[in-house]
Amino acid sequence: MKIIDIKPRGYCKGVVRAIILAKKTRQEYPNEPISILGSLVHNKYIVAALEKKGIKTINTPFKSRLELLDEVEAGIVIFSAHGVSTEVKQAAQEKGLMYLDATCEDVQSTHDLIKEAKEKESEVIYIGKKNHPESLAVVESFDNIHFVTSIDEINQLQIDLDKPLIVTNQTTLSTLEIANILNKISEKYPHADINNEICLATRVRQEAIIKQQDLDALIVVGDPTSNNTAMLARIGKDQNIQNIFRIETLHDLDLRLFKRHWTVGITSGASTPNYLTNMVVDYMKDLNIDNPSLYPEIDFERILD
Ligand code: SF4
Repeated sequence: MKIIDIKPRGYCKGVVRAIILAKKTRQEYPNEPISILGSLVHNKYIVAALEKKGIKTINTPFKSRLELLDEVEAGIVIFSAHGVSTEVKQAAQEKGLMYLDATCEDVQSTHDLIKEAKEKESEVIYIGKKNHPESLAVVESFDNIHFVTSIDEINQLQIDLDKPLIVTNQTTLSTLEIANILNKISEKYPHADINNEICLATRVRQEAIIKQQDLDALIVVGDPTSNNTAMLARIGKDQNIQNIFRIETLHDLDLRLFKRHWTVGITSGASTPNYLTNMVVDYMKDLNIDNPSLYPEIDFERILD
């Protein structure tokens, strides 16, 4: 079996920054309760590793950031890389909490773009995934934006053609899907100022898969809730890779589904610990398909490396 370790893959700058911030905060405030509003990043192993350091993740499904904040009584609250509305920051201050903001600068630049557009009284179309924290933060932060989740919804948009129009999007969408949506918007609203805000980390990880030739299979390591991980699998499917395996760790890999003559690519989402992906790569490179060795144990101490 030929194994291709597709690069770049794994942690992006926003995730690295968020993890460093959480670890540093624990070092500086060893006795304070520390809570993270939502998952710091979308990976349950990172969440568990933070929990071991006494950093609690507040993440009840379907609750807004404001509702989650109700569950924090004291101490320090960290906002995740996905961004947060000004209202939530104000509410944290009013509760007497110290807050630290791990919002990624690329997410922040989308907020700044929309803020500027609203100040100029432009209409705004924002393309994102429903209930994803990044798009929720945008929808909670700005009134009257046109939130679009798929190409089919463009037909239903009713926007005043006399007003300027800004178009932007969630940073972790599929580069292939967004191109189609933006084309459709340009056809309907030729005056639209299009700002494709897919971040560089998302783009280069997707392009690295698009560049691969003749892969029989693609292993995508990442959390089921991670949108950028899901998009890597989607790109693989769009590239007609016949066998796509989405796994969280090596332990999810079913070797009975692999054929000895295959060329297998391995990639991982921007929120996947490199340690977990390296485990998959190392194991697959050393694999004897006739006599596979037992999977090694996961060492939780190395998740936040
Ligand atoms: S995926 Fe992109 S926008 Fe999201 S945290 Fe990483 S670099 Fe920032």
